[in-house]
Amino acid sequence: MGKSRHFDTLAIHSGEQIYQRSVTQPIFQSSTYIFEGESQYTDVTYGRLSNTPNHQNLSDKLAALEKTEQGLVTSSGMSAVTTALLAFVPPGGRLLSQNTLYGGTHYFLKDDFPFWNRAVDFFPIEESGSITNYLKAGTAAIYLETISNPLLRVPDFEKIIAVAKSKNILTIIDNTFASPYNFNPIEMGFDIVVHSATKYLNGHTDVLAGAILGKSEKIEEARKLLCHLGPCLDPHACFLLNRGLKTLGIRMRQHNENALALAKHLQNLNRIEKVFYPGLESHPDHARAKKWFKGFGGMISFEYKGSIEDLERSLKRLMIPMVAPSLGGVESLITRPSTTSHSGLSQEERTKLGIKDTLVRLSVGLEDVSDLEADFTEAFG
Ligand code: PLP
Repeated sequence: MGKSRHFDTLAIHSGEQIYQRSVTQPIFQSSTYIFEGESQYTDVTYGRLSNTPNHQNLSDKLAALEKTEQGLVTSSGMSAVTTALLAFVPPGGRLLSQNTLYGGTHYFLKDDFPFWNRAVDFFPIEESGSITNYLKAGTAAIYLETISNPLLRVPDFEKIIAVAKSKNILTIIDNTFASPYNFNPIEMGFDIVVHSATKYLNGHTDVLAGAILGKSEKIEEARKLLCHLGPCLDPHACFLLNRGLKTLGIRMRQHNENALALAKHLQNLNRIEKVFYPGLESHPDHARAKKWFKGFGGMISFEYKGSIEDLERSLKRLMIPMVAPSLGGVESLITRPSTTSHSGLSQEERTKLGIKDTLVRLSVGLEDVSDLEADFTEAFG
């Protein structure tokens, strides 16, 4: 499939191969394949080496959607994040990361990275325009998230890329919240993209998966490490993720539309103090998001006006969104980050990051937005 095709066409057709005249990609439920004289261990076709037909087709589709050379799928978003960090920050090296991160990534960097003989430095996300102040001797890579969790901040990518390129530092970005429909970081100059494919890429809350994308030479380095560590994706999960990806464009357009309408609606409700959504002009990073993203995504957070007990009662009154962690599926999910994604941080750390106990994070699904608006009016109006 020519790379000049549009997103929806690539989502359906890129990476697909015809086997036995099949129109869709079958599941190759075989762990191993007949030896054909391959000279290197990582070239032998074997499930854990992530090179079976299901892995190949799916990785090619993801690479086309992220507008890059090569993809590698993994068993979860965290295995993509940890494999990339270990592959691209050498032993003895340092990583510079934004301070507001997905909880799992934050815990890995704080608790486990030193064990692997790597160091981490954090910069406050609101200072993303002056990261030079935070670079140290030995900084090998910079790590960002396209839209931060849970306050949905958008770092100053242009400045960060310029600094990184001038100092020959690798840039890695977790593009889970935006998805390649809304933003292609590699096109802008990032080196490596990671995803929790569990979220928007799959979109149906029934698969755990991850991906690492970039230039072939780099992805081969990550693949070598992944082969040793072992968190490969099984063929059935590959099949489900491949199927989910085919509707990514149409789903993201609706996530974008629903979330923008709902964010505006929430601003007018009595029990809501403040709404955070990059599509709102009141958001501190609205200008960047507007300039760089095709849409503002499906994630909203808001501060509740009242006590935690009242907030819990309001959440119970909601009929449509389920109270559950995770995001990016067709159904709306709602959580308090202080009890889920950021519960491992101390109260003091959360306060520093601006995450109050009455902060609520909402993954806006694909339900009819007027039903969502009515539901929130009932519970928070
Ligand atoms: N990155 C982000 C931004 C996430 O939100 C998550 C999970 O919520 C992950 C990575 C980890 O993904 P997984 O749960 O698929 O391991």
